Amino acid sequence: MNQQEYEMNYQALIEHSSDAIIVHDPEGKILYANPAALTLIGDRSLEEAMKKSVYEHLPPGFSDRASQDIQKILEGGTLPALVATVLLANGDYIEVEVRANLVNFGGRSAIQIHMRELFDRAKLIESLKQQAEDLRRSNEDLENLSHIAAHDLQEPVRTVITFIQRLEMEKKETLDAEARGYIRTIEKAGLRMHQLLGDLRRYSRLNMQELRKEKVDTDSILDQILGELQPRIREEGATVVREKLPVVMADPTLLRIALQNLVENGIKFHRPGNKPRVVVAAFSRGDAWQFSVQDNGIGIPSRYFQKIFDMFERLNPPDAYPGTGMGLAICRRIVERHGGKIWVESEEGKGSTFCFSLPVDDTGA
Ligand code: ADP
Repeated sequence: MNQQEYEMNYQALIEHSSDAIIVHDPEGKILYANPAALTLIGDRSLEEAMKKSVYEHLPPGFSDRASQDIQKILEGGTLPALVATVLLANGDYIEVEVRANLVNFGGRSAIQIHMRELFDRAKLIESLKQQAEDLRRSNEDLENLSHIAAHDLQEPVRTVITFIQRLEMEKKETLDAEARGYIRTIEKAGLRMHQLLGDLRRYSRLNMQELRKEKVDTDSILDQILGELQPRIREEGATVVREKLPVVMADPTLLRIALQNLVENGIKFHRPGNKPRVVVAAFSRGDAWQFSVQDNGIGIPSRYFQKIFDMFERLNPPDAYPGTGMGLAICRRIVERHGGKIWVESEEGKGSTFCFSLPVDDTGA
């Protein structure tokens, strides 16, 4: 490496260093500050920093000590690493570990200072723990609130539905066609609200109930699901193809809800005039099982790949494909509670594959 290459490498090293590095002349005037130093002391640019002296970054009363240290280095002496207080551009003080040495800067002797901000690790960890606890508690409060709200709202909605149905039954003769139309609209809206509140309750309950993990044979879970969906499968003329599914460590009730939602969606979102075909499979990725539920349905535009897992997100009008938009939000919560991930791969007009992973435990399940 020639001298020029050496200097370029040295320059790059200093520019990219995460340590704050400042070079100043024997009088303290700043000649150079690397980007980390500008960030640390809060100066906007090198030009701004170079208008100052290092003494301006010292707390009052520290100048004499600093000037003695500078003199010692200029005379060829060395200084041990020391902890110093630095005054920032915004008026705050911080503690830093400082090392200083003599350098040649543009043919003149100068002092190069390395500074690294000192964190009180224990304090930082304590405050992060506190924040996590506050967040957990506020999440719990929100969960409780939505659960109670959904529960309490279901009661008056049920009353509205009951009485509107009674009105329709008992006063049929006295009502004209327009009034009967209004009643049907109210009843439909009431039933939908009841369904939405029910799903919201189920969703918030998911986080409150304890996760009961055990060895689960997903093959027999799929047997139960397909048994239950038989009328629907027959009605739609659907085919469900299945591969051998593994034994995994999971909460059987929750896993069944997730898998059933995905299979049901695979049957439901079929193209008009096209018979649904759903393939359920799983394979081992070593550290996790990856499940997939593939269909030949309407597909999903890629811009919605994330959004569809949010609460109440629906891409299709309820008349064409009934639902509340909570199924995938429930699936995501179940999978995430097991430490896994859920995602979709899809092509519009061709079909979708919903995949989720479940971490493997020590026994390989
Ligand atoms: P729901 O089925 O009640 O509408 P989900 O949360 O299960 O609610 O799904 C959210 C939305 O994602 C659906 O309304 C639909 O637009 C889209 N979606 C889900 N599964 C599929 C699928 N297999 N094929 C195409 N679109 C789907």
